[in-house]
Amino acid sequence: MAPFPAQPLVGGCLCGAVRYRIKQVRTAFWCHCTMCQKASGSAAVPWASVARDDLELTDGTLTRYASSEGVIRGFCGSCGSPILFDMACEAEVDITVGTLDQPDAVQPSHHLWTHSARAMTAGLGADLPRFAAERDPP
Ligand SMILES: [Zn+2]
Ligand SMILES: [Zn+2]
Repeated sequence: MAPFPAQPLVGGCLCGAVRYRIKQVRTAFWCHCTMCQKASGSAAVPWASVARDDLELTDGTLTRYASSEGVIRGFCGSCGSPILFDMACEAEVDITVGTLDQPDAVQPSHHLWTHSARAMTAGLGADLPRFAAERDPP
C-alpha cells in the first residue's frame, strides 16, 4: 500500500472559513515539542510535510503567529484551528493531520522531539522510530 493514498488531499479548520488542498504529502510525523503542545493544546501533534508549492489555500486566510525567529504558525482567526507550520529556511511546510477531511489517509512514520514527550503519549505509535530532537525527512 502506498504510504499516502487518495491524493490530492483537502482539509480545513473547524468553522470552515479556511480550506486548503495538498497535492502530495512527503512524510508525516508526531511532534512532541513543547511549542506544538502549547499551540495545539494537545500532548503531541501529527504533522504532514508538503512541498511549499504543493499546498494551496482554497478558502479564507490564515492568521500568522511568529512562534520563533523565521517560524510562522498559521491558524484560523475565527475558530483557532492550528493548520500551518512554516519555517522560512525549509523547502517544505507542515500541515496538521487533524485538519484533513480524511486524517486516516496520512499515517505518521516517526516521532520527533521526544525529549519533551508527555507520559500520556507512551502508547501512541509505539512501534514507530523515536528521535529526541529534529531529524531530516527520510
Ligand atoms: Zn475556522
Ligand atoms: Zn513541534
